[in-house]
Amino acid sequence: MATIFSKIVNGEIPSYKIAEDENFFAFLDINPLAKGHTLVIPKTEVDYIFDLDEETYMGLQAFARKIAIALNKAIPCKKVGVAVLGLEVPHTHIHLVPMQSEQDINFANPKKKFSPEELEAIKNQIAKAL
Ligand code: 5GP
Repeated sequence: MATIFSKIVNGEIPSYKIAEDENFFAFLDINPLAKGHTLVIPKTEVDYIFDLDEETYMGLQAFARKIAIALNKAIPCKKVGVAVLGLEVPHTHIHLVPMQSEQDINFANPKKKFSPEELEAIKNQIAKAL
């Protein structure tokens, strides 16, 4: 059965897509810790990041780097934090979280709420900075 993230890649489930290439996909997290919280995934369905083959792993990191650089330009923040948890969705994903302080990347925090219009605008801002 396809993972929820594969359904996002296939367009079966809508998302605020930031970028995509042949092998990787980036989109806004639906329950963001901070404005611009983005998930970067390989299109291949592998649960655990360290089970990816080396080429896919390196490609994913390079793709995430491009997105992080754009995030840093588009969203006012000190740095973009990087986290991998994977406790909820069994499809490798890197969290990129624009941070003002370390509190912004505490996954126990209540999630931020944005309207669809705000999310659309955030997505466009990031995509424009790529
Ligand atoms: P983790 O597996 O790293 O513990 O958490 C999964 C992350 O995926 C969470 O931050 C959650 O908000 C996000 N997420 C789960 N389902 C969806 C979805 O359908 N769409 C989007 N955009 N994000 C999701």
